[in-house]
Amino acid sequence: MPLRIALIAHDHKKDEMVVLAREFAPFLRRCALCATGTTGGRLVDEVGLEVERLLSGPRGGDLQIGARLATGGIDAVIFLRDPMTPQPHEPDINALVRACDVHDVPCATNLSSARLLLGALQATPSETPMPRAA
Ligand code: PGA
Repeated sequence: MPLRIALIAHDHKKDEMVVLAREFAPFLRRCALCATGTTGGRLVDEVGLEVERLLSGPRGGDLQIGARLATGGIDAVIFLRDPMTPQPHEPDINALVRACDVHDVPCATNLSSARLLLGALQATPSETPMPRAA
């Protein structure tokens, strides 16, 4: 089964997400990707990835990803958050990051940690299940 990765970027971080996705495009093409609506649109249009687009973040996309993650449907989250701009859906953002912690799903919230996470994942043989907390 391909790794299932969720991708989310706040508006001021969307350019970084495109740069990141271009860097890791060969790996990401082998994964099952989902994303919040606008982020997903940019990844489809500008990187040519196949992405399942969920609702836009402020309209519930983060919650959709959190619900999927809580039921075992997401293996890793790349969530490029903007710490400098208040977000109308702050409770949803906190809920998603909390769900990652509750379910021990790796979540990278800035570009450097995203590079480390994707680099580690692409170096992991797909046959090897990701270690998860009990
Ligand atoms: P978006 O959502 O990709 O639809 O912009 C991201 C967010 O702001 O949470």
